[in-house]
Amino acid sequence: MGWPVKQSRAPIIHGYWIEKHGIDADFRLEAVRPEEFADFLAHLGERGYVGGSATMPHKQMALQLTEPDARATAIGAANVIWLDNGKLRSTNSDVVGFIAALDESAPGWDRHAAKAVVFGAGGAARAVVHGLLERGVATIHLNNRTAEKAEAFRERFGPKIIPTTDKALPAALSGAGLVVNAASYGMVGYPDLDIDLSTVRDDAVVADVVYVPLETGLLKKARARGLRVSDGLGMLLHQGTVCFEKWFGVTPVVTSEQRARVEQALRNA
Ligand code: NAP
Repeated sequence: MGWPVKQSRAPIIHGYWIEKHGIDADFRLEAVRPEEFADFLAHLGERGYVGGSATMPHKQMALQLTEPDARATAIGAANVIWLDNGKLRSTNSDVVGFIAALDESAPGWDRHAAKAVVFGAGGAARAVVHGLLERGVATIHLNNRTAEKAEAFRERFGPKIIPTTDKALPAALSGAGLVVNAASYGMVGYPDLDIDLSTVRDDAVVADVVYVPLETGLLKKARARGLRVSDGLGMLLHQGTVCFEKWFGVTPVVTSEQRARVEQALRNA
């Protein structure tokens, strides 16, 4: 459910698992106007659905209209909805998606990530920061174009968040074990994130939530410096496992074949 929704790659991701697990189901895109979202959700079961995922601009409203779990509440947005004995429940799958992609691409990333630098203070950044804190990252330097939003993160997530101005960035990046772009930098039509990675740890990991393009300028720069990277497509695929498990009671596995299908669709777009 989104407005617009046709850009979504979710049908490829879930269609792959539906086929793999031999489930008699269909994953459909529903273009739902914001003013119609509440009514659409209220009649989800009558429309034949066991659940759904909410994308822009419905994630905040989904939180209000369902019974969210602690994770969705902490992040302030719900993107996975399912019917549980007639009750609409919800969670946020982006935390699992981001952390699982990191674990897969850079196993052991958290051994040297006491100091992390995160860019962005929107919905994706809230999921990233929540996930990093859950995994025990001690300090998160947060840089955002609009500085007040980074300040608000400290109020929401506590003193481990250090709002960081552009001027303070070089000191923050020095010795960092993890750098994450959770803003729109590097996305098609947006400027690249232009930072100096020369002073981060040699075993640092660089992650990006953006997946259009598949390899952002930041990830290119990180690879050139010999750093391990985790890309936005990994996050997108892994967050899907949470949805599928809630809807069908089966925990699916992200595969390279499935990833190749989505990559092909992104290339053809
Ligand atoms: P959002 O809530 O609208 O936040 C956008 C963030 O990007 C804000 O921090 C914003 O800064 C910053 N930004 C936007 N335009 C900018 C520019 N021209 N220069 C510098 N900063 C800019 O959006 P979101 O939901 O967090 O999404 C952010 C990105 O994450 C998108 O590319 C989205 O596709 C991606 N994403 C990926 C996944 C995945 O599964 N891989 C999941 C969710 C989101 P201000 O606060 O100053 O506006």
